Amino acid sequence: MKAAVFKGVQDIQVEDVDEPEAGPTDLVVSVAACGICGSDLHTFLHGSFVEPGQVMGHEFAGEVIAAGTDVQGLAVGDRVTASPIVPCGHCARCAEQRYNLCAEAWTTGIAYGRPGAFAERVRIPNSVAGENVFKLDESVPDEAGATVEPLAVAVHAVRLAGDVAGQTALVLGLGTIGQQVVQVLKAYGAGRVIGMDLSPLRLRAAAELGAEAVDGAPGLQDALAATLGEGGEVDVVFECSGVPALNAAALDAVKAGGTIVVLALYDDDVSFNPTVLVQKEIRLQGSIAYTSDDFGEAVALLTRGAVQFAPLITQRESLDDVAGAFAVQLEKDRSLKVLITPNGA
Ligand SMILES: [Zn+2]
Ligand SMILES: [Zn+2]
Repeated sequence: MKAAVFKGVQDIQVEDVDEPEAGPTDLVVSVAACGICGSDLHTFLHGSFVEPGQVMGHEFAGEVIAAGTDVQGLAVGDRVTASPIVPCGHCARCAEQRYNLCAEAWTTGIAYGRPGAFAERVRIPNSVAGENVFKLDESVPDEAGATVEPLAVAVHAVRLAGDVAGQTALVLGLGTIGQQVVQVLKAYGAGRVIGMDLSPLRLRAAAELGAEAVDGAPGLQDALAATLGEGGEVDVVFECSGVPALNAAALDAVKAGGTIVVLALYDDDVSFNPTVLVQKEIRLQGSIAYTSDDFGEAVALLTRGAVQFAPLITQRESLDDVAGAFAVQLEKDRSLKVLITPNGA
């Protein structure tokens, strides 16, 4: 079958690879749609997260075409999405169900060690309904299913922030993750959700999803002051931009006693004086991926229409055109989420 293989920096190619087969606990899924992730771009540009030879693609949905004899609650013909992380199941973090923090989760995951879903078909190991594989309701199209993974990232980050009801939140960087954070904040009853970016396309999408979309061109401090107005303050910041300087800016922007959740990935070091953390008693919280519960919650939010998916999807490209798809995904004012559709749209 055909799959897109990461060959090296700025080199991804479609090749003929082995057909996946379902072992006793596995599913094989025919991939309907698979999104290009921000982390895929880091790998494409810098070789950041996987080795050459890796079939990439971890934000997918499709139809089950083979199910192992031991798989329960899932069957051929089901439309599903799945968590790409494959935790070891026996470490201390796995015992806490914090599968995102299992050291093995990222070395043996789908698209991280084992073949990913920029392919006609993908194998999902250790398939358990409601744990790593989630059936999609009739009302949730395949394209929506492909947005569940980044939505789960946002659910995890917003949950780590604590109760956001009534709070003023600032979301820095309105790529797909930032947009999903906006949506989860709105769904969880945040008061003001201010989204900041430089890209008009991304600002328009955030406005459509319910954010106060603010052009960051004047600089974070000035743009924020003009938006917040007299006496306004930011309770919680979500750093989704990956721009190093915005970490120090976020420390200035958040209120004393506030929280900063960092969920971007950085190519460069960040420098700031931690004294401001002390003086303002700021909680600086990292957030990586999701638990099974977060993934299930993301599916539930989509199913009951509490979040949207259509405004996120800007392009659909064939697997054969994966290199072009990556080129478009890299253009921040032309794309938000580019989907690869390996078996036709
Ligand atoms: Zn992703
Ligand atoms: Zn583990």
